[in-house]
Amino acid sequence: MARAFLYAIVGGGVAAGYAADEFVKRGVSRGDLCIISEEPVAPYERPALSKGYLNPEAPARLPSFHCCVGTNGERLAPEWYKEHGIELFLGTRVISADVTRKTLLIATGETIIYKYLIVATGARALKLEEFGINGSDAANVCYLRDLADAEKLVKVMQSCTGKTAVVIGGGYIGMECAASLVINNLNVTMVFPDSHCMSRLFTPKIARYYEEFYQSKGVKFIKGTALTSFDFNSDGKVTAVNLKNGSKVPTDMVVIGIGARPNTALFEGQLTMEKGGIKVNSIFQSSNTSLFAIGDVAAFPVVTVAGETTTTRLEHVDFARKSARHAVAAIMNPEKTNEFDYLPFFYSRVFTLSWQFYGVNEGEVVHFGDFSGKTLGAYWVYKGRLVGSFLEGGTKEQYEAIAHATRVKPMVEDLGELEKQGLGFALSL
Ligand code: FAD
Ligand code: NDP
Repeated sequence: MARAFLYAIVGGGVAAGYAADEFVKRGVSRGDLCIISEEPVAPYERPALSKGYLNPEAPARLPSFHCCVGTNGERLAPEWYKEHGIELFLGTRVISADVTRKTLLIATGETIIYKYLIVATGARALKLEEFGINGSDAANVCYLRDLADAEKLVKVMQSCTGKTAVVIGGGYIGMECAASLVINNLNVTMVFPDSHCMSRLFTPKIARYYEEFYQSKGVKFIKGTALTSFDFNSDGKVTAVNLKNGSKVPTDMVVIGIGARPNTALFEGQLTMEKGGIKVNSIFQSSNTSLFAIGDVAAFPVVTVAGETTTTRLEHVDFARKSARHAVAAIMNPEKTNEFDYLPFFYSRVFTLSWQFYGVNEGEVVHFGDFSGKTLGAYWVYKGRLVGSFLEGGTKEQYEAIAHATRVKPMVEDLGELEKQGLGFALSL
């Protein structure tokens, strides 16, 4: 059987939810839009999975975190889609796509015919097997990408209260899960290959602040080494992790956060790819003019601090939301849609800590604030201009100030003076 829609979205995560909201705001007609998602639930705010969802008390559960509550927008529960005549194919994988014929084959055996397709398939967690290590399927080894992963993590974590956990990876998942494991009363050891956590964003000085905070909560760090294998018991459960440095760490559970890869398989060989994603232009249109890509899967054009145009991908929720709205605007109102002009924004919340970062972390770094206290940060200055800002423990006004400062890219003549002024510099602009 074939069904025809004017607009189809493949993937039902953050970007899909915000795209649906934008379609409705722009007056999409009933029956014109469908969303096909492998996940069994309507689009939700994925960041909740590594934060509120893991709380030991009053944990966040759906429907409370459906899109668009993350930006204080309306909560789009499944009924909202029905009310607006949007067809949700949930728990339904798209098996193949033909971008020339403009058709999708979905797991029910139906064919979806579209005029415009938005690809919002996000990314998947990298598996240990891709590094030649077995054990991902063990009952006490957890990843965290979707709701099913989060449910498993909660069950395993609750069965290990008072016991031990090893977290592999010192990136976003590693840091946020380690904090949640501690809050759930587990003894946590973090293992990662770099010399400090969050190595792609944090300076060694910023990383030291967080690592010392984690240590004060009992977290142990094993840095500069990687996992080589697991020990298993007769039930197939992991009992210890073996590391490249020769050591063995006994454990009751393991959480893995070793990176993500965009879900592009449906379109390999059909579209131009770059940086591991679907290459799009400044309105998120791919090499096939009827097909747009948004969120984690989109490789989009940016102007670097050196003034060159290059292609990048961002795996962060603010970009997923804004790219979604922009692509829908471009599809429904092309003559009124400008090029995407984006200031990168990342954030995280762990324990009682909370940080925000704007811009790019390139050039010289100037730290400011009290690194033994609660409010601290850093600016990145490239060829005399402020291009990136990080702030931990800020107020709403202070975060807005660093965002504004990074957007306007002021000249910085004296790095020493910038250090002295610290947050005052951004607040004065
Ligand atoms: P996703 O939200 O991943 O959605 C993709 C959807 O496509 C999924 O529903 C998937 O099942 C579906 N799909 C894939 N292939 C198919 C197919 N063939 N057929 C049908 N459906 C398919 N970013 C931040 O900035 N701050 C945070 O605090 C933060 N926390 C995070 C916490 C966790 C646990 C995770 C995993 C990510 C977090 N992120 C955070 C990143 C952010 O959530 C992502 O950048 C964002 O979700 C990307 O949105 P997306 O719609 O592109 O992809
Ligand atoms: P990240 O890329 O943030 O971090 C991966 C970490 O794993 C890095 O420390 C990396 O080290 C390390 N690593 C890589 N390979 C190995 C290996 N073989 N053994 C041990 N460690 C290894 O990915 P995450 O998995 O943490 O996050 C997955 C996705 O979820 C990302 O898209 C992320 O943006 C998103 N996310 C975002 C959040 C936020 O913005 N607050 C919160 C949670 C998830 P190295 O740097 O040396 O490669």
